[in-house]
Amino acid sequence: MPSPVQIVPLGGLGEVGMNCLAVEAAGRIAVIDCGVLFTDEPFGVDVLVPDLSWLIERRAQVGAVFLTHGHEDHVGALPFLLRHLPVPVYGTRFTLAMVKGRLEEAGVAADLREVVPGDVCPAGEASPISAEFIAVTHSIPDACALALSTPQGTILHSGDFKIDERPVRGPGMDLERLAALGQAGVRLLLSDSTNSERPGWSRSESAVGPGLQDVMAEATGRVFVATFSSNAHRLQQVIEAAAGSGRRLALLGRGMVQNFDIAKLLGHLSEPGWMPVSAEEARRLPPRELAVLTTGSQGEPRAALGRLARGDHPDLKVHAGDTVILSSRQIPGNELAVGRLVNELCARGALVRWDGHPPLHATGHAQEAEQRRLLQLTRPEFFVPVHGEYRQLARHAATAASEGVPAGRCHLLTDGQVLSLTDAGARILPDRIRSGRVAINRDEGGAVEVPDAVIEERRRLAEFGLLMVVVSLDGASGAVLGEPEFQARGVAGLEGQEAELGGEVRRALEALAGGSRATGEAAWRAARVELVRVAVRRWFRRATGRRPLVEPVLLVR
Ligand SMILES: [Zn+2]
Repeated sequence: MPSPVQIVPLGGLGEVGMNCLAVEAAGRIAVIDCGVLFTDEPFGVDVLVPDLSWLIERRAQVGAVFLTHGHEDHVGALPFLLRHLPVPVYGTRFTLAMVKGRLEEAGVAADLREVVPGDVCPAGEASPISAEFIAVTHSIPDACALALSTPQGTILHSGDFKIDERPVRGPGMDLERLAALGQAGVRLLLSDSTNSERPGWSRSESAVGPGLQDVMAEATGRVFVATFSSNAHRLQQVIEAAAGSGRRLALLGRGMVQNFDIAKLLGHLSEPGWMPVSAEEARRLPPRELAVLTTGSQGEPRAALGRLARGDHPDLKVHAGDTVILSSRQIPGNELAVGRLVNELCARGALVRWDGHPPLHATGHAQEAEQRRLLQLTRPEFFVPVHGEYRQLARHAATAASEGVPAGRCHLLTDGQVLSLTDAGARILPDRIRSGRVAINRDEGGAVEVPDAVIEERRRLAEFGLLMVVVSLDGASGAVLGEPEFQARGVAGLEGQEAELGGEVRRALEALAGGSRATGEAAWRAARVELVRVAVRRWFRRATGRRPLVEPVLLVR
């Protein structure tokens, strides 16, 4: 009897981001994608990565990582995975180019293996799983779906996709191959749910170019265009719009410069006949002759557009009469940051344009009609919606049901729930495996894991402050010498109350005065430290309703 296959989602099912899925058969495991989730959480948390402990415990069984495309929410957590399990990583050329820099920054060596659509790659030695890469259209070049050949038949993973019938470049989505797989029989389809709540067919990427061209032709000042730097087809359209309206192009933001170079090197940008101008040249050009591609469309304060908005970018300034185009969608959670950015730009006299009339952005994700098309082409026996919050997964499952996948064969999984595929069918196993999120502080110098307890401590520090209580005790009698002293950082409600709180501390310690130190110095101290902490906390709760962090310091004389 063919071996069962387990589908193990470690991230991306129940949230938008940190996509990571494991597929296990006959004791061998293949991993699809390993991404981060950007977060607006405060307290020094930059990104979240999936809890990878399930994979790390099974490191000897993992044979390969297959990457669908190079977006951070699909590849950004690779360094954390490869540090523990150095397995081969398969991806297309642009995908691997996106990954290389990240791995180098993290100091992680990797066995990267380049593929082209049509390639079939084994998931390691003795693995019954292999993956075929199939070209799809998305908001980054070289994106692929994966058709996994397994002991339980073909499992098709859509990756992130849209069905763009007029792509800016490239062959487009390989609908023929997908239809052929459907004809041969797809056992299970896992499909991108990001836009399942949007009806109809998504706008083609190529519809954005004319809009950009119109705005640039109309504008009398400089035009700044903020977009994701990995969207090479968007960059190409900005280049053309700039050229068509008599503007030279400058680049702002480290990511923009890097990804522009990669896209150019890999042939995704037509030779514009001229190079982007330097910042110095850009400053000299008349405003009517300059367009600027910049990072920071999501309101990130440290990105180039955020700095321009605050007026502290070293290279360029935004002046009254300039136009700023946000050629992007706000990622949910970034609304406040983008709102702040737009206010700051408007206060400088800039005209801020975003998608509307004319079109200035196109989504990279399939909307409902495209999701239906994929279901019709592939006619899967079982269906699991992936990449989305629960509501988006549920909506996508309803779409699949209306396309003829019986409701009992649409499985709504969230991270940590395992789907077992056997000859008898597919069912969700009763026990969840360990999954979750790990918070990461990611600076230019590297990445540090931030445990939950540390985040909780930071939250309390931010909310209530820190109070140090210094008490001198007589070593022999345990009596309090002098008055307790307080050093507060960010604590409200203490001023003028020091004497009262000092009295509280003194009374608490007097209850233990005379206690013997014979039981041990450490225990003697610990008992008093705890007493002080409890007394101070109790006083604060009563007096202010707040709970500052309390750090007693005992000076024993
Ligand atoms: Zn993507």
